[in-house]
Order: sequence, then structure tokens, then C-alpha cells
Amino acid sequence: MSEKQPKAIVVIFGATGDLAKRKLFPSLFKLYRKNKLSDDFAVVGVARGEMSNEDFRKSVVQSTGKSDNKQIQHFASHFYFQSADVTDKQSFERLQVLLQQLDGQYHTEGNRIFYLAMAPEFFGTICENLKSSGLTATDGWSRVVIEKPFGHDYESAKDLNNQIGRVFTEDQVYRIDHYLGKEMVQNITVIRFANAIFEELWNNQYISNIQITSSETLGVEDRGRYYESSGALLDMVQNHMLQMVALLAMEPPINLTRDEIQSEKVKVLRALRPVTEEEVGEYFVRGQYGSGRVQGQDVIGYREENNVDSDSTTDTFVAGKLMIDNYRWAGVPIYIRTGKRMEEKSTKIVIQFKDLPMNLYRDKNHPHPNLLEIHIQPDEGMTLHLNAQQKTGKEDSLPIQLHYCSNCDDKMNTPEAYERLLFDCLLGDATHYTHWDEVSISWKFVDAISKAWNKNKDIAFPNYESGSMGPDASDELLAKDGFFWWTVKSKPSNS
Ligand code: NAP
Repeated sequence: MSEKQPKAIVVIFGATGDLAKRKLFPSLFKLYRKNKLSDDFAVVGVARGEMSNEDFRKSVVQSTGKSDNKQIQHFASHFYFQSADVTDKQSFERLQVLLQQLDGQYHTEGNRIFYLAMAPEFFGTICENLKSSGLTATDGWSRVVIEKPFGHDYESAKDLNNQIGRVFTEDQVYRIDHYLGKEMVQNITVIRFANAIFEELWNNQYISNIQITSSETLGVEDRGRYYESSGALLDMVQNHMLQMVALLAMEPPINLTRDEIQSEKVKVLRALRPVTEEEVGEYFVRGQYGSGRVQGQDVIGYREENNVDSDSTTDTFVAGKLMIDNYRWAGVPIYIRTGKRMEEKSTKIVIQFKDLPMNLYRDKNHPHPNLLEIHIQPDEGMTLHLNAQQKTGKEDSLPIQLHYCSNCDDKMNTPEAYERLLFDCLLGDATHYTHWDEVSISWKFVDAISKAWNKNKDIAFPNYESGSMGPDASDELLAKDGFFWWTVKSKPSNS
């Protein structure tokens, strides 16, 4: 067997759901097309409805958006549907019979991935039922992939983790944070640790502040019910934003293994300065969108959305100032902001370097510090902002930009986050998944903020217009430190 062509059965719980159709089936097909899956694989889809294997395969073909050709038909022939209610133990016994049959048919050697693409309240129950019906006791390996959200606060996450831990060991648990599968998020460590010009400067002596923005133009769409119990803080900050912070701020690991990288990330999260209830207003800003205009379209406010309370105090925007109290980062603010219905869809990191002690070309009115922008999405790449002489030969310096685009030339073959993460899981590599220690510390940090916000619901929402970049208080958060959000419209390109 080639190391790059793992043999396994992937069981997808929630196989008729949005995630399975939009992300999981297309990602598996991409792996198959790239020859990363051997013919020794099978996928079993589980949901409550009744469906024949043929109809399930049709839905798989449809989800890939491919025409009905031989390759996609051959791929889809590996898919099987099992109608089952995950709360019913007997369903798991029937599933076991099917898996044993497929193991023999596809030579998968008892290797199994259980992908829980279902509502979080089922995660624990599924794990328990997997164990009690013997599905995890195979001759091969078994792994479980847990979707987000992993709990809704530290206590619920701990309970869930204990429940999962009674069935799977930590190295069998793959907690997905799909940002960790993104090309340029994975590139953070390469940019840092493979370039002397950056890593030498990557500390409080040379960096004045770091800014991470993840903005969406969409509102809550049809996820109002879920979002009412979550909000931007729990939906984005606890996981994706803090994961990017950890990768940007961690010390160089002694090697690139899961254990070493995760251990360095944990240290960063442990060094995050906790925010007390009294301090929360000083460090964090919450917002909620009102009506407005986004990309030329009139849109309604959050409180008018379906399944949203007309007095809702749910945050659809968060900005925060994080301080990492360690030797490398003392004194360097890391500003984060994320929100819905904002001016543009973009996830971007900006590292602002300090000015030279005596910059002969400093323009006091228009400072041009060196910036490193890491474009996460939709553009993928980086831009380095430098200064050079103007063509006119005047003494002033002119800001120039060096661009690198990682997805400009070949968008079709650039792997997507889920494709990479699924393949990693098939190979048994959990480096780009989150360890329980990371999840638990992140929850503790975020819990303090949400507790303070929940106590004080007396907030004048909505406080930002759809199509803007969030409430004024978000700009003030930086202004009081003498900074401002960089909204440089640079785009990476390879031309
Ligand atoms: P969804 O569209 O609501 O799908 C839920 C799936 O679960 C359906 O296939 C449903 O089929 C099945 N199901 C529900 N109750 C069941 C039961 N008792 N027994 C067996 N099957 C059952 O949900 P989703 O959007 O795909 O999300 C799935 C998970 O991924 C959630 O944890 C979500 O937070 C996470 N996630 C989703 C996205 C996304 O883009 N959708 C992104 C990030 C994370 P039946 O009703 O036929 O049983």
C-alpha cells in the first residue's frame, strides 16, 4: 500500500446535511481525482430518512457539480446509505454488520473514520453508541472527527470531552477548526520559520502591533436560531481567531510534529492576559448590525432576521485587544475583529513593524510603516509593504508593495481546507486539528468575556450599519493606543 493512499471506511453521520453535501463529498472526490484515495475505500452515509444506495450516490454526484462521467460514477459507487437514528442503539448494530461486510469487500483492514457532521448535542451520544455496539473495536485504527462547536462554554466542552474520552483516546480525536486547513493559515509557520528576515524581527522589539480581521458580507442567512445561542464571540473568536493568534505568536517548535506544534500553541494561549469582568469594556467591543447597504443591495438588520429575537442582544461583531504576557510579546497588542454584514468579505492578518529609530525619510503626516499582510481568504498570499525612492527623484520615500499570490495561477487545483483536513485524518496526522488543551484554554478565556456581556444586556444595539466595518468603538479601541485598523486594499497577484 502506498503511504499516500490510505485504506479506510469513512462513516459520515449527518450525510444528508449541508456540510456533507457542500464540503465533505466534494472534498473526498477531489482526493479521489488526485489519486490520493486508492480503490480500497468506502463511505457510509448515516441519516434518519430512507434512501436507496442509488439515490444516495446520485446526491453525491450532484454535490460535486460534475457531469455524469465514468470517473464520478466509479467514485460514487463506493458510497452506501444507512438509515439510522443515532439515539437508537440498535441502529449501530446494523451499521456494524454493514461495516464488517464493506471491510471485506474493500480490503479496508478495519480502519474507520467516524465523521460527526451533525448537531453538537449528538456528539457524545454517538461516541457512546459506537463503543457499546463494538464499532470502535476493530483490527485496524479508528478515529473520530468532531465538528464545531465543541461545547458552548468551558464546562460544556469539558463534559463533552469527558464523554468522548470514555471512548476515544486524545490521539484518536480530530477536533476540526477548518481555518487550520486553509493554505495561508498553514503558511504562517512557513513564513515565520523559513525566512530569516521575518523570524529575527518577530518580537516586541520590532513589531508594534498585529491586526487580524475576518469580515463577512453575509448576515446570518437561515442560521438565526443557531446564531442566537452563539454570536460572533463563540462562533469565531473562541476557535478560528485564537488559533490564528496562537500560530502567529508561538515559539519555534523543536520539530514539525503534532505534539510539538500544539504544545507551543498551548503556551501562547496560556500566556493570554485574562480579561476580568471590570476590564472587559477596555479590551473588547461587541456589535450588532442594523440595516444598511452591502455591495449595492439593501439589507435588513439582525433583529429583523428569521428566528432572531426582535430585542436580541446577540453579538454579530467582536473586536478585541489581546495581550500576550510573555518575553517575546510583552507590550505588543494583537487586535482582532470579526463580524457579519461588513463592507467586504476578507480574512487578513496585518503585522505592523515599528519605525526605525531615526528614519530620515519619515513623513510625519503620512507614515508608511513596513507591513506584512497575510491574505487568508478569498485572496491567498502575502504582501510586504516597503519604502523606496520615488521616480521623480525627490527625497521623499514612496510606499511600494511586493506581492505573492498562492492561488492566482491555479485556483482549480488549490486544495480546500476540508480536503486537506480529511486527507490528514486518513493519514493519522492531527497537526492541523485542535488539541483539548487548546480548546479548553480558549474557552476559559472567552467565558470571562461572555459572562460579563451576559450580565450586562443593557446595550444599545444595533450599533453598526450593514456595509460598514463595525461600530465606532472598534476604531476607538486602537485609537487610544495610537493605532488604526489598516484597510489597505492590496491584492496579491503574480503578474
Ligand atoms: P444539517 O444540514 O442540519 O444536517 C444535519 C444532518 O444530521 C442531516 O443529515 C440529518 O438528517 C442528520 N440527523 C439529524 N438528526 C439525526 C438523528 N437523530 N440521527 C441520525 N441523523 C440525524 O447540519 P450541517 O449544517 O450539515 O452541520 C453539521 C455539523 O457541522 C454541525 O455540528 C455544524 O455546527 C457543523 N458545521 C457546519 C457547517 C456548514 O457549513 N454547514 C460549517 C461548520 C460547522 P435527517 O434529518 O434525515 O436525520
